[in-house]
Amino acid sequence: MIRAADKMFLPAPASRIWDHAWSLWRALMAAISGRYRPELHYMRGPGPKWREKQIRAEDDGQTYCPSCNVAMVLERVAPKLGPLPELRTYKCLKCGNVVSYEIER
Ligand SMILES: [Zn+2]
Repeated sequence: MIRAADKMFLPAPASRIWDHAWSLWRALMAAISGRYRPELHYMRGPGPKWREKQIRAEDDGQTYCPSCNVAMVLERVAPKLGPLPELRTYKCLKCGNVVSYEIER
């Protein structure tokens, strides 16, 4: 037989404990951070990993898509013209992304 005093110390169902912990976590995060700002948590544009890959790509003569990381094809080359550098345009066949690079010589 369970007495009323013992009932107070019985463990709550796991889901209720989880719900309570989750609501406490959300309240704590809301109190700390104010409003959620995704731009602080997600990187925009190419980052260090992408640059690292570009340096490697220059070594093996291949250019990789910054979006999906597959090898890109050279679409066109605009030759160096006076003060303007050579411009190489690459296209990703997977996602259609187009990237141009100035080639300094
Ligand atoms: Zn792509």
